[in-house]
Amino acid sequence: MTTTPYITIDLDKIEHNTRAITGLCNEHGIEVTGVTKVTCGHPEVAKAMLRGGVASIADSRLENIQRLKSAGIDTSFMLLRVPPLSAVDEVVESADLSLNSELAVLEGLSAAAIRSGKVHDVVLMVDLGDLREGIWIDEVIPFVREALKPGGVRIKGVGTNLACFAGVVPSEDNMNQLVKLANEIEHSFAITLEWISAINSSGLEMIASGRMPRRINHARIGEAILLGRETIHRKPWPDTFQDAFVLYAEILELKNKPSLPLGERSEDAFGRLTEFEDRGNVLRALINVGREDIDIEGITPLDSRIKILGGSSGYLVLDVSAVEGDISVGDELTFSLNYSALLTAMTSAYVKKYTL
Ligand SMILES: *Cc1c(COP(=O)(O)O)cnc(C)c1O
Repeated sequence: MTTTPYITIDLDKIEHNTRAITGLCNEHGIEVTGVTKVTCGHPEVAKAMLRGGVASIADSRLENIQRLKSAGIDTSFMLLRVPPLSAVDEVVESADLSLNSELAVLEGLSAAAIRSGKVHDVVLMVDLGDLREGIWIDEVIPFVREALKPGGVRIKGVGTNLACFAGVVPSEDNMNQLVKLANEIEHSFAITLEWISAINSSGLEMIASGRMPRRINHARIGEAILLGRETIHRKPWPDTFQDAFVLYAEILELKNKPSLPLGERSEDAFGRLTEFEDRGNVLRALINVGREDIDIEGITPLDSRIKILGGSSGYLVLDVSAVEGDISVGDELTFSLNYSALLTAMTSAYVKKYTL
């Protein structure tokens, strides 16, 4: 029995989307690592990505990587979030590769790798302006000089992450800057960088339009596979599904009430003052998802006649006047999710997850 609220995960759609993305990237000499972090490292999702052609799996949390490994998934695992100095042994134990930007952490990883008799691969992250993780560009050469000293870690390549913190988009300028830097590292230290791991879902347009420099050969892709969208304009990506995930919630109360509150008003439960528009009486539905379950700003009713009026921790309030007669208490309503809503739904213990 399915109990509301829940989300359905269509694994065939995820596999199909993965194939569309890996097909495009592979054609351009780019290997794809599938990113599962927004699904909290869901093992069935990772398997669908692998069936669809990703070469490996990445997640930002060690717990998620450990869960994927316990589920018997046999691939190489990349830790996406720069590792904590306090957990270098666990990182080396669970992940084959991590993204790095601090020498102290590299030294810790080195010691941990030597202790466990392993070689741990690292990608050195370069900040090209999005101002999240990464070594600032003019500090990269001295950083690499130091990073080559400790044993047990192997520099697999350099990488960057864009369009996450500040929304900086990949361009020929910043991509070529990374390529140039990679060439400089190779010449200065007589090493070969196997990967230039420069893109996430925001880089697909550049690849498809043939503007991605040829040396960029690795991508870490989450959203485009899972939600079928590139992330610059959030346009649906060709030949992908946008509805691999659907949220279901149940109507708890259905009543005609005025559109204007009665009485003197102060802040709502979340400290907000909302303006209300008088539209006479409306048919309102209360459903059983709220801020404790999902980012309510990130969901859209699949029936476009239904409007979200707002929500609190446990309720969402809808205007369902346009579907009066078609719905009753106990009915399930369906919603699409954006990245933020998917992240919160997958993280919430109250939202069940069912794979199709
Ligand atoms: C989340 C993340 C990605 C994946 O980004 P999408 O936009 O979901 O493709 C790639 N790289 C890093 C470092 C990330 O944190």
